[in-house]
Order: sequence, then structure tokens, then C-alpha cells
Amino acid sequence: MKTAEIAQRYLDYFEKNDHTIVPSASLVSPDPSILFTIAGMVPFIPYLNGTVPAPYARAADVQKCIRTNDIEEVGKTARHGTFFQMLGNWSFGDYFKQGAIEYAWELLTSPEASGGLGFDERDLWVTVYEDDDEAFGLWRGIGLPEERIQRFGAADNYWSTGQPGPAGPCSEIYFDRGPKYGRDGGPAVDDDRFTEIWNLVFMQYEITNVRSKTEFDVVGELPKKNIDTGMGLERVAFIKQGVENMYETDQVRPVLDRAVDLSGRRYGANHEDDVRFRVIADHVRSSLMLLSDGVTPSNEGRGYILRRLMRRTIRSMRLLGVDVATFPELFSASRDAMSTAYPVVTEDWDRISRSAFAEEETFLRTLASGSTILDLAVEKTKDAGGTSIAGDEAFLLHDTYGFPIDLTLEIAEEAGLSVDRAAFDTLMQEQRARAKADAKSRKRALADPGVYREFRALGETVFTGYTDLETESSVL
Ligand code: ATP
Ligand code: MG
Ligand code: MG
Ligand code: MG
Repeated sequence: MKTAEIAQRYLDYFEKNDHTIVPSASLVSPDPSILFTIAGMVPFIPYLNGTVPAPYARAADVQKCIRTNDIEEVGKTARHGTFFQMLGNWSFGDYFKQGAIEYAWELLTSPEASGGLGFDERDLWVTVYEDDDEAFGLWRGIGLPEERIQRFGAADNYWSTGQPGPAGPCSEIYFDRGPKYGRDGGPAVDDDRFTEIWNLVFMQYEITNVRSKTEFDVVGELPKKNIDTGMGLERVAFIKQGVENMYETDQVRPVLDRAVDLSGRRYGANHEDDVRFRVIADHVRSSLMLLSDGVTPSNEGRGYILRRLMRRTIRSMRLLGVDVATFPELFSASRDAMSTAYPVVTEDWDRISRSAFAEEETFLRTLASGSTILDLAVEKTKDAGGTSIAGDEAFLLHDTYGFPIDLTLEIAEEAGLSVDRAAFDTLMQEQRARAKADAKSRKRALADPGVYREFRALGETVFTGYTDLETESSVL
């Protein structure tokens, strides 16, 4: 079953059950407190917390999402993409727990021939919040045996925004991939074998005095209870398509295959290479979708995330032995795989490809000039009888040439040298502190309209440093 067909079945099912079908919002979050749309609920926040009355009582959608905090998992687990699509159904004060559970179960377990997703119910497990006897009872009522319902604590199965307002327990549905993938015993034991596919959130209470994710006071039941669900389209797709992971599904695999062709290596021959192929397939698609939503590579905010995704792709290709431009091939493969679901990637191809290809050219030039400088540093170190490249050399490469530290480490290693990492880290910290202080003084300066005009005249943008970003990690 193709990914697009799964999405269509989902929408058809909920439309048949009186849900209004709503188009996906942009990846650029409509909520100004976050950079990207990280879940299906983001565009519905005003309806869910009641600041705007919902124009419908029931809705369903396929929402494009970006989650940068999953970046370290990409390619290593079977199930984490930086870009993915979340299928969601919503009740704004209409049906509640029973409806949400029954709809989810019926769609998952109805035979394919009657429009369902055809899961064997013996492969499904669920979790409920530890105190949620109501949800437990509803799952029992549906026929799920007690052994396949696990009770989880607030850290996993309680939803809130971290602010006073609506909150409530969730119930999640997991698919058992079988003994080949890990230990038996349900999601409490092994979350790789037991893959989470669907989260049902029951917005039931109003909470206040929030001290942490698990500590807060319940004011009482909400007068209007809401349902917010999210099912990972790529996760269902990889299970239904009988492949090993989400990077091997029809919307992603063509990019992976193109990378394999370009590298002349084989997929499935070596774990490290395989992770790289999957990272490339994921990041190219995420970049394509970000570009199609108007994000452009830059040194701050969303643009910086996009830049990092593209540069990590180039790095990964390089580690696979390819140091020439590959974006024209990789991005076209992704465009072809995504254009049925998102025709805009073809309609806007000129603009998208121009931006992507230019970014690659620039970074390849950076790598080329950085490599020359690094070669000199290697020579100097060796001539002096040293074994370690100085921290300030590594920092200069990073700071002036945009040359990533992991690349410096790798090239040094190839030359039989180490890098004074501690000194490099100290210099990085000092730079961050400077950037922060700088940003603060600029903010103060911006309060003075005279100075502000000057900044605008210079076309200056305030760069607050990488520390503000969600995951800095070792990516670049
Ligand atoms: P996991 O525990 O597997 O990381 P999650 O609990 O973080 O998932 P939710 O926030 O509950 O995920 O999101 C709802 C659904 O969206 C998940 O059940 C899953 O099917 C899907 N999903 C979440 N994160 C990703 C991702 N990075 N890539 C693909 N699908 C995802
Ligand atoms: Mg997660
Ligand atoms: Mg989870
Ligand atoms: Mg979850």
C-alpha cells in the first residue's frame, strides 16, 4: 500500500464519520513560539485551548511536520524522520475517549477490502495513563486482552503544554514487529520491536501550578473536552509495505537508491554506510519540503536548520566517497517521489532547485578551501613533531571558513593526528558567550529607534548564536 493511499484511506474513513477534511498547514509554524510545525495539533492550538471557537466539531488532516530533536535518531532507529506526516483526527467538544478509541481501532483493524488498514489485531498493543481506568476499560470492551494493555506514567502518557490550561492522559497504539526485532513484553520492554504508531490524547482537565511535566495541580474537568490524535504516516507505511524502516518506503527510498548509485557502494553491506544512506534520504526530503514552504538556507533560525540538514547530507555523501555535487540527482529523486502528494515541489522546482544547488556549491567551495588550510595545519603540526592539531587552528577553520569540527577531526585522524578538542571547546564557549552578549546589547540598541534605523539601513540581522537552537549536537 503506497503512502499516499494510506493517507487517503485515513481521510476517507474520517470523512465518512463526519469529520471536516482540513489541508496541511505550513512547516513554518503558525504558532510563533516554535520554529516548525512539530505535530498535527500545532495549527489547532487556538481551538484546543479555546481562544478561538473551532469552525467545526470534528476535523481530520495530514499534517507535514519537522522535528529537529529527533535528528540523532534518524537512520539509526527505524522510525524517526526529521520530516514526517502526522495523520490526525480532532474532536472539539464533540466525541471523547470512547469515540477516539473506537475510530482508531476500527480503521486499523478493518480489512483492506472494506477501506481499513488491515492490521491483525493480535499485533497491536496499547498503553494508557496509569490512573486512566476509563481508557483501560474501553480497550478491554473492544476486546483487547489485559496483557496487551500497559499502564505508563505521566512522563510518557500525560499530555500538557507545560503551561496552565488544558491537559490530559493519552493512550498510544503500538505495532509488534515480531521476535526478530527484540524482546517480548510490549512497549514497556522494547520500543523498537514495539513501534509506536498512534497517539490518542484526551484533553480532559484544566491544570495549574505546573512545576514540571509530571507535577501540577488539577483544577477540574474541562467543560469542553477535546480529542487530539496523531498517527505517523511513514510508520504505518513501512509496516504496511513490509520494509525494514521508514526510509525504505515509497516516498523516501528513491533518494536512498540514488545515493547508493552515486556512491557505487551497496545498501545493506555495512551498518555505518547504511545509516548514512538513510540520513541522506531523510535530510534531502526534509530540505525539499522546507524549501517548498519558503524556508531558505541562512545562518539563523529555520534557515540555519535547513542549512544544517543540507550540509549534513553533503558530509554524508563525502563519507560515502562522493565529493562532487549530488543535489541535482538527489533532490530530483525526492521531488519525483513527493510530487503526487505535494505537487508544489514540481510547480516550484525552479526556485527550490536554484536554492538547493547554490547551497551545495557554496559548501563544496568551503570544504575545498578549508581542506587546503587544514592540510597546512597538519603539515605544520607534523613538522614540529606534534601529534595534535592546536585548538585555535580547529577553531579558525570552524569560525572563519565554516569548516565543521567533525570533519577536522576526521581529516586529522586520517593523517594520524588528534585535535586539541578541549581547547577548541573552550574557544567555542567563549564565542557563544560573546554572541549572547552581543545579541543582548543589540536588543538594547534596538530599543532606541535611531539605532534601529541604522541597523535596518545596514540590512543587519540579529544573530543570537547557535545555542538558541533546539539540538546543536555533533551534526556540524
Ligand atoms: P516516539 O516515542 O517513537 O519517538 P513520539 O511519542 O515522540 O514517538 P508523538 O509525539 O506521540 O511521537 O507523535 C504522534 C505520532 O507521530 C507517533 O505515534 C508517531 O507515529 C509519529 N511520529 C512522531 N515522531 C516521528 C518522527 N520523528 N518520524 C516519524 N513519525 C513520527
Ligand atoms: Mg519522539
Ligand atoms: Mg513515544
Ligand atoms: Mg507518543
